[in-house]
Amino acid sequence: MLLVGEMMARTWGRKIMIMLAVVSAAGLMFAVAACAPESEDDNRLGVVVTILPQVEFVENVGGDRVKVTVMVPPGASPHTYEPKPAQLKALAEATLYAKVGSGVEFELVWMEKLLATSKEMVVMDCSKGVELQEMVAEDEDEHHGAMDPHIWLSPANARIMVRNICDGLAEVDPDNRHYYEQNRDAYLQQLAEIDREIRDGLAAVKNRRFMVYHPAFGYFAREYNLIMIPLEIEGKEPTAAGLTQLIEQAKAHDIRVIFAEPQFDPKSAEVVAEAIGGEVVLIDPLARDYTGNLRLILSQMLPAME
Ligand code: ZN
Repeated sequence: MLLVGEMMARTWGRKIMIMLAVVSAAGLMFAVAACAPESEDDNRLGVVVTILPQVEFVENVGGDRVKVTVMVPPGASPHTYEPKPAQLKALAEATLYAKVGSGVEFELVWMEKLLATSKEMVVMDCSKGVELQEMVAEDEDEHHGAMDPHIWLSPANARIMVRNICDGLAEVDPDNRHYYEQNRDAYLQQLAEIDREIRDGLAAVKNRRFMVYHPAFGYFAREYNLIMIPLEIEGKEPTAAGLTQLIEQAKAHDIRVIFAEPQFDPKSAEVVAEAIGGEVVLIDPLARDYTGNLRLILSQMLPAME
């Protein structure tokens, strides 16, 4: 009996010890959390952006001085995405909103509401100084007057956006202007490099037409003297007649690859690809790794356009 009693006492003792340990650990965690909720984040500038390539731009300029939050998450389209309530919290804590500024629907529809959540947030326009061009229409020579928001897909425009971001960061955090400018210049070099790679890579390409589902590559096409033929026009799937015409066009121009974007249903791209005995290749207009993604797109376009 004594033995059992002793064991029971020991067991209870252990249990109490464990309980105490758990309680104190929880208490400690609570204390740490209460004292410094995001200790290493405390000094960083909260910057909000609309699309993922801007995360790359802001992080390259802002380095460890910034904490970037993106509004349109991976896989979503900035033409249709609606912000979640939890995202408003990030806005309330942000110092700067770097908007694309070129007429992206997310910003046209939500910007006013987003800004109402944080009165002190400074808004800067990444498109300042970028020359907007019209959307490509059904007939490649005809334009419908709507401006094309996809400015970031030309490295030349990305360079302007990065300069604007640097100015915006320096405006809200003038003490670190020099740091931002140094980072900006280093990243501008990377953008100049990828621009050169694409220019050189596409220089000898003879078939300069490419078909793509969503017309996101208009600025890219203009920059590198290519002709983009989109399947989707003004946000609408091609009609049956439209598809027939696209298939004829693809055949006439010896197009063998139909590009499509991961944010959209590739069905009509598959229909055209099948009709021409070609294939669908996905290219992402919204990848976060901007330079790496453009390099990937170049490697996908080259064999398609030989
Ligand atoms: Zn788009």
